[in-house]
Amino acid sequence: MVKLSYDDVVQMLRERPEQTRTYEVESGVIQRLPLDTPECLRSMNEDEVQELADYLQTSSSALRGPFQVVDHTCSRCARPTTFLDFVKTAIDAQQHSRDELRSVLTDAKAEWLTVRGRDGGRPVLCANCDNPLLGALRCGGGEYSEYSSASYAYA
Ligand SMILES: [Zn+2]
Repeated sequence: MVKLSYDDVVQMLRERPEQTRTYEVESGVIQRLPLDTPECLRSMNEDEVQELADYLQTSSSALRGPFQVVDHTCSRCARPTTFLDFVKTAIDAQQHSRDELRSVLTDAKAEWLTVRGRDGGRPVLCANCDNPLLGALRCGGGEYSEYSSASYAYA
């Protein structure tokens, strides 16, 4: 599969495709994209990174942080939203396998970007109680990222 360049990505964010999809991008693209809106995002703490590592059956040191996630708490069970909610939702919906997502978050040689399409993006469910979180996660619109790491972002 062809990797998207920075210019390809900028073009795609300007004219969003119909469907939300994940693409492999050229090295350095994730760092260059001005995705993060600091007021919306917080850093995941060590326990949260460990929880994600356990779920992906890897070690926390293998994961390529720092992990940023939208600052949000589940309205039903009060769980703070983390990467795990997004990862578990995708695996439960069989959009990706656990092996694929482990590679995305541990592979030092590849970078990935999910571009939200005009379909409005993917729903995300609370990892603890399955409460849908998507609507509540939108904080201000624009090209912000709901979650990102060194090798992955959602735009
Ligand atoms: Zn919940």
